[in-house]
Amino acid sequence: MHLLNADLHSHSTVSDGTLSPEAMAARAAANGVELWALTDHDELGGQHRARDAAHALGLDVLHGVEVSVTFAGETVHIVGLGVDPDDAVLGKGLAATRGGREARAREMAAGLAAVGIEGAYEGALRYVGNPELISRTHFARFLVDSGVCPDTHSVFRRYLTEGHPGYVPHRWARLGDAVRWITGAGGLAVIAHPARYRFSPTAEFALFSEFVAHGGRGVEVVTASHTHPEQLRMAETALEFGLLASRGSDFHAPGESRLELGQLPDLPGRLTPVWEALEHRIQRAPRRAAA
Ligand code: AMP
Ligand code: MN
Ligand code: MN
Ligand code: MN
Repeated sequence: MHLLNADLHSHSTVSDGTLSPEAMAARAAANGVELWALTDHDELGGQHRARDAAHALGLDVLHGVEVSVTFAGETVHIVGLGVDPDDAVLGKGLAATRGGREARAREMAAGLAAVGIEGAYEGALRYVGNPELISRTHFARFLVDSGVCPDTHSVFRRYLTEGHPGYVPHRWARLGDAVRWITGAGGLAVIAHPARYRFSPTAEFALFSEFVAHGGRGVEVVTASHTHPEQLRMAETALEFGLLASRGSDFHAPGESRLELGQLPDLPGRLTPVWEALEHRIQRAPRRAAA
């Protein structure tokens, strides 16, 4: 069970990925994924499509979502795994979380126009698959394709992060609310890519402590955002806080993402994988009868 090829973090056109839920299912199956979760940002709209497409290919899934949270002035992402995609309270919480994105995007465009980059709002919109989910990633793709920057990472570095002209601070969901929405929908809450946040050791300790106090159960140890030393540090943190360990590529787009869907290192052996606590939430593909 431990060496299951689980990829429990990925995105489609329903948020800021470039492949449809169906194309993601096909890619996961082709890459040998055995348990897959599509975890679009603040949005469950791709879940039924993803499950149906995966099941047609014999692939098991956990329903998922990645919730944007503001904690101690930083954006933190909380992945919910095994949620009921039709849960009304979770759906309402996510709709409220998505709500500020359009106004934020217009402000981002105004900041970019002030440094001579015109038309970024309309430009970014051309890359958006879900009008409620315009994100920095769509601006980044527009700025790369219009020749302003050579790749999306340099767009983030030069324009879309704090202190740069296209950055607009934003208040996302509260940590406790995100954990409760996920848990109330039958899911298990996981701190996404923890080594990516720029927290002091004290603030990081507060994040983990409060997360556990709210009922959070897991942490991503293996993700595209972590170096090998960061993986080891987060494995220790998982043990320290009694958290289950998750594994996900955070795949967004061919040629853009650091890890290919389903092609990522195994979890360190002494950790308990999050899927062992989610057996009852796995949407199993119909098994074909043996010939
Ligand atoms: P938003 O939710 O609009 O703030 O956009 C956040 C998304 O931007 C993340 O989910 C990533 O997909 C992407 N992102 C954040 N930082 C970077 C970076 N340094 N390079 C490339 N993509 C990034
Ligand atoms: Mn993203
Ligand atoms: Mn994230
Ligand atoms: Mn993600």
